[in-house]
Amino acid sequence: MTAKKKQLFEHDDRLERLSVAGREKILDDKLHKLVTYAYKNAPAVRERFDQAGIKPKSVHSIQDLEALPILRKDDLIRLQKENPPFGGYLAVPIAGLGRVFQSPGPIYDPERRGRSAQSDFGKGQIVINTWSYHITPGGFIVEDMLRNMGCTVFPAGPGNTDLILQVMYDLRAAGFVGAPSFLNAVIRKAEEKGYDFRKDFNLRWAMVFGEMGGDVLRKMFTEKYGIECIWGDAYATADLGFVATSCEKNCGMHVTTDAIVEIVDPSTGKALEPNEVGEIVVTPFDEVYPLIRFGTGDLSCLQEEVCDCGRTTARLPKIMGRSGDAVRVRAMFVHPNQTDQVAAKYPEIAAYQLVVTRADNRDNMVMSVELCREPADKEKWLANLDKDFRDICKVKCDEVCFVPAGTMEKGAKKIVDKRTY
Ligand SMILES: [Zn+2]
Repeated sequence: MTAKKKQLFEHDDRLERLSVAGREKILDDKLHKLVTYAYKNAPAVRERFDQAGIKPKSVHSIQDLEALPILRKDDLIRLQKENPPFGGYLAVPIAGLGRVFQSPGPIYDPERRGRSAQSDFGKGQIVINTWSYHITPGGFIVEDMLRNMGCTVFPAGPGNTDLILQVMYDLRAAGFVGAPSFLNAVIRKAEEKGYDFRKDFNLRWAMVFGEMGGDVLRKMFTEKYGIECIWGDAYATADLGFVATSCEKNCGMHVTTDAIVEIVDPSTGKALEPNEVGEIVVTPFDEVYPLIRFGTGDLSCLQEEVCDCGRTTARLPKIMGRSGDAVRVRAMFVHPNQTDQVAAKYPEIAAYQLVVTRADNRDNMVMSVELCREPADKEKWLANLDKDFRDICKVKCDEVCFVPAGTMEKGAKKIVDKRTY
């Protein structure tokens, strides 16, 4: 049994709609409080700050932490091995923890508070939570959030589609939470058993996120089955919990106000400009486990234009891949997901490969293309491809060259970096 702890950092819904400057001031104050607290209570934080020559009292904004090297998963794995169980990052006594989770690595994560949601959807309704309660924190993080929203939760976990279907039917469950593909599997199963899902079940809404291609399924759930998909998408990690969630306008995911979210150049740790693609680095306001400047390894960018929903927080348009797969060309990251997106617009392209070289201190990109059929107007086709490449990758491709069909090996890397320094 754990006593209810007094929280150092309370979530405040109002922060999402403050002016950018007003919110920044509050987050900067929280950051100062976090850094001071963590330096005092977590030995590993103290060591990391001392090594970087940073004094907590001089930290008044995230820019003051630019010299602090990004904390990576690999660092945590090593630190936890050297100094078990939490590598010196735990800032409360173990007796103060309710649960401990394990994420791949392995990394042991002490329990953090569930983040509250951007909606009071589902008050007084029964919700099936199919995120896993086993080992990883997903199920509990989502459950805390649902209970804060006033929902009654059935802790189903993933798998066992038959059982979940029966429970949903018996309890007249109104909400479903989990992966979009899993809800799809449940509906398929109902139809296999001869149910009319729309008529025989009471499912009114779903919070389904965390997968590539989720948009297509969400649209189908709504149009075909009348299931309202709240939130749309979300970005969460086992180590951090929720980092960003989309709003009712569904244009990107708003970053949480319970953390400072930066986009940085993973090689230098320096913050990038809005709309520049880089690594997501997060500093959660968390007095239990203060992972200051934790590098997620995921790529995205920050959009700062105010959203139609009225929230003034920046948005991540989507996750663009892992930083290890991307190459940095003329100061911009280019990820295979982006080049795939370009190629997908041209049915004439059978295969492609982007090769990056460097001469005279300038990066050069050549896209080799195998065609399955000739474009009608090749000049116009190339001009369009050039424009789409610049729009999607934010950097110009220097040259497109056509190679005979069958030149490229199946499964070859989409982007090859041949630069040497
Ligand atoms: Zn919005």
